[in-house]
Amino acid sequence: MIDKIKKIIPNRLKKQIRLMLHKGDKYICPFCNYSSRDLSIIGIDIPILIEKQVVGGGKRFGGCYNCDATDRERLIYIYLTEKVKIFNAGKNQCILHIAPEKNLSRLLLDFCFNKYVCGDLFTEGYQYPAHVQNINVLNIPYGDNTFDLIICNHVLEHIPTDLEAMKELQRVLKIGGQAVLQVPISKNSAQTFEDFSVTEPKQREIVFGQFDHVRIYGQDYVNRLEESGFKVRRINISNEYMKYGLNIDEDIFICEK
Ligand SMILES: [Zn+2]
Repeated sequence: MIDKIKKIIPNRLKKQIRLMLHKGDKYICPFCNYSSRDLSIIGIDIPILIEKQVVGGGKRFGGCYNCDATDRERLIYIYLTEKVKIFNAGKNQCILHIAPEKNLSRLLLDFCFNKYVCGDLFTEGYQYPAHVQNINVLNIPYGDNTFDLIICNHVLEHIPTDLEAMKELQRVLKIGGQAVLQVPISKNSAQTFEDFSVTEPKQREIVFGQFDHVRIYGQDYVNRLEESGFKVRRINISNEYMKYGLNIDEDIFICEK
């Protein structure tokens, strides 16, 4: 009976009901300002993600009921606004945003920076907004030292030759600039786990936690970044900004050259 009623309620009304039910004052979404008492469930529970305590992956309370922004998208936004003060530093900045998140990307685009390049590796069957270019991180079509800021959130775990991608990101980063390179990372593994004999999507999901991931990063992620030539700062700001519903365990990896 409840299922039947649910089916006949229009989606817009369903959303209004949901927003009413979850309204509260524990969290506020920095993108849409919706105040809620809790966060929506995002991600899927995959046994390997639980076993390896992968931060930034798996099932968790992390979504905004109104705009669907995730905890990891909010974390980058809060870091950029509260720590980097990106919107106070003037428009004369060049930014590269790989696999751009919808809400964050819209705000950066609207600010009209000197250069705001959005890139994604176009995949058949997916649609991309007009401002997103087909860019392979292994061959970024920009010169050395072009960007003041690079955002690359949960991309490297998809790339077999991640070291090459890191080097390429480093090449296009300006001296004095910073690249924010986030990945899902295992809390209890010292070493990154990869096995390139695993190629089937279903197998990858079992072994790496997602059908298109090629590894699970361990605590040596910083070493890998350093190996590619970056100087790395690992910080955690989640505690300071819990009202934005950030993942307490998610660190930020700031890479400089
Ligand atoms: Zn929101």
